[in-house]
Amino acid sequence: MTRPRFISPNEVSALRTNILSKLTYAVGKDPDNALDHDWFQATALAARDYIVDRWMSRTRDAYRTGQKRVYYLSLEFLIGRLLIDSLSNLGILEETRRALADLGVDLERIRGLEPDAALGNGGLGRLAACFMESMATLGIASHGYGIRYEHGLFRQVIADGFQLEQPENWLDFGNPWEFERAEVVYEIGFGGHVAPYGEGDPRRQVWTPGERIRAVAYDTPVIGWGGEGANTLRLWRARPLEILHLETFNAGDHVGAVANEARAESISRVLYPADSSEAGQELRLRQEYFFVAASLADLTRRHLKQHNDLLSLPEHVSIQLNDTHPAIAVAELMRLLVDVHGIPWDAAWSTTVGTLSYTNHTLLPEALETWPVQLMERLLPRHMQIIYLINAQFLDSLRARGETDGAMISYVSLIDESQGRRVRMGNLAFLGSHSINGVSGLHTDLMRKTVFRSLHRLYPDRINNKTNGITFRRWLHQANPALTDLLVDTLGQGVLHDPEKTLPQLKPYANDANFRERFALQRQRNKDTFTSLVKQRLEIDLDPGALFDVQIKRIHEYKRQLMNLLQTIALYQAIRDNPNGDWTPRVKIFAGKAAASYHQAKLIIKLANDVAKVVNNDPLTRDLLKVVFLPNYNVSLAEVIIPAADLSEQISTAGMEASGTSNMKFGLNGALTIGTLDGANVEMCELIGEEHMFIFGLKAAEVEERQRSGGISSDIIENSPRLAQVLSGLRAGQFSPDEPARYNSLLDVLTWHDRFLVCADFDAYWDAQRLVETRWQQPDKWWQSAVINTSSMGWFSSDRTIREYATEIWRAL
Ligand SMILES: *Cc1c(COP(=O)(O)O)cnc(C)c1O
Repeated sequence: MTRPRFISPNEVSALRTNILSKLTYAVGKDPDNALDHDWFQATALAARDYIVDRWMSRTRDAYRTGQKRVYYLSLEFLIGRLLIDSLSNLGILEETRRALADLGVDLERIRGLEPDAALGNGGLGRLAACFMESMATLGIASHGYGIRYEHGLFRQVIADGFQLEQPENWLDFGNPWEFERAEVVYEIGFGGHVAPYGEGDPRRQVWTPGERIRAVAYDTPVIGWGGEGANTLRLWRARPLEILHLETFNAGDHVGAVANEARAESISRVLYPADSSEAGQELRLRQEYFFVAASLADLTRRHLKQHNDLLSLPEHVSIQLNDTHPAIAVAELMRLLVDVHGIPWDAAWSTTVGTLSYTNHTLLPEALETWPVQLMERLLPRHMQIIYLINAQFLDSLRARGETDGAMISYVSLIDESQGRRVRMGNLAFLGSHSINGVSGLHTDLMRKTVFRSLHRLYPDRINNKTNGITFRRWLHQANPALTDLLVDTLGQGVLHDPEKTLPQLKPYANDANFRERFALQRQRNKDTFTSLVKQRLEIDLDPGALFDVQIKRIHEYKRQLMNLLQTIALYQAIRDNPNGDWTPRVKIFAGKAAASYHQAKLIIKLANDVAKVVNNDPLTRDLLKVVFLPNYNVSLAEVIIPAADLSEQISTAGMEASGTSNMKFGLNGALTIGTLDGANVEMCELIGEEHMFIFGLKAAEVEERQRSGGISSDIIENSPRLAQVLSGLRAGQFSPDEPARYNSLLDVLTWHDRFLVCADFDAYWDAQRLVETRWQQPDKWWQSAVINTSSMGWFSSDRTIREYATEIWRAL
């Protein structure tokens, strides 16, 4: 393989020695009876040593140069596996493979033993992981801060077509990448009471929490591309102040004596499995405050060690809030500055606003976080006071400016009075930040026009756009070595280091038949691999020559997996009606998890499995259509599916997907996109060219227009015989003969409350799918478009995104 190396050439023997030594002295195993998992552990520990050297020198540099520091606060980091990523970024992947082979161990076999670090739900958490890698690559002195969940996102098992949730025990065999920092501990308080500080500004108060726990740091080094940059992901684990209450224990209450521990540890026990919907429970608020308080305590301590006062915070520190989950940072930073450090309120406020910035990830009203005032008063009494003070100051300033529109004022207030009194975390994050960004051009535009319409008018300079990106190291180099080799072969190694500049040079090769053939060949190999995986996991035989049509993402009504399934049914019915027609063999591939409490989404999973069962067993359609639902979608599964995809489904209701990032992963790997003009699809369309994608459906403005009519689709259904046939098949139990009424609730929603406009876009989607088939039947054209997709995706590197954050928001480059 033609990959760069960043360390000396005789590294294979050194690696062999290091791995053996880790196996013996760190894992405690004899090579003669070491199991695969022991070899994985030893290899990871050996790789970690290389990382640590670089990590420490980068940390020393950051102190020495006084470089600006960036803190990325995120309740989620969807990391996936780290072994291949680390070896590849260090430039020792092939050397390690050879060293292990010398020891009789196959790297391909042991890489699969690493559990996925699934500390996130979906796109938002994966973005945080891509950003960490890009910040390391670009040499930004940064820390990611989050929670070290004992259980990440649940493991999805499909039983009789239904999703079951099982706990994900990713730490069962230890975690070779992390360092426990038993000495980095902060006390975190909840509840209690607040009293005046004494004379001086009455806005300074003293909070005496009623309950205290400890936050203990666990550090994972993150190595950037080329092994140069390295930074820290610091995750907090909740621990009790005292583990064992000895008096209680001695009095004979052995369970009560550890109750403290259980209560404290519940905070970092499990990730909330909700995506794009509000969790809204007390434990979630505890998690949010817990990690924010620990992170701010840690970073202010580091700042004071280097610079002596906190007023200089904005000059040396940027804190990015990933969505509103860490928005309580606004009040906590004010508390630290005013109450703890005695800084006057106004100076504290400008310091806070100067330091914080906020990324919005959704416009869906049900996903905008609010907390009941009562709960806040009980759990965080001082923060609630601070929020009232911020609000009063803000509303006064509006009146002073002559704003008198009562509706507008109640809309921008931090307190929502309309449904019980609740704190609006989005408005809090907005007021407390100097920058508020959206994650694609369209999303940012809609943010200005919808959720933050009035705040935007009051602070017109704050909202800006930073279109998401993905790290090519994981989503190209690691996931698709065959395509990576082809690109290096064709464009040179520059494509690895600077794809933004180099990938566009691939464009002329779209017209080179010989190159197209090689491009198609790597896809075919990836499809073969994927076909064996499906055979092995699901016992379904796929035709690797068929069009692989893929929709993998969280199951959510706005992402419209249901529309895809209805199309699948329509196609199935059409093939059955005319089995000798000129059909394009297709495999419909789905994967994704539904939030455990999201009934409709879980029903969509069952439908996918019901449809698969009927379609895959029908001898009439057997060679033409297959449906596959792969259980337990996660980063590792995405890495296998995406390089094998011909068609990428990005079909959300326009205006509802903030950006999407799987659309970018597919495009980079050369899949063609069928999609709506939503999120970053819009930018993809501009860069790739609409003629190399299949864009269909209502646009965001038309969606808004239509929604005003209430989502009644009966007229649409009447006018679309194809859709009507699909729905009546479903209603008659064509796919659920054991329970014909199973899908009635989905059907009723489609007919009477079709908020996501599945019916309205159905026919346009059908037509676009026929264009897909026409293109597929002309391989020259298909592969021409595929090459152009790959060549146009350089801009979607998360290095570009991070460079924009760093220059325009953080001023850290
Ligand atoms: C990229 C990624 C996502 C985000 O996918 P979207 O289709 O953009 O929602 C979610 N989960 C995993 C595991 C991913 O890798």
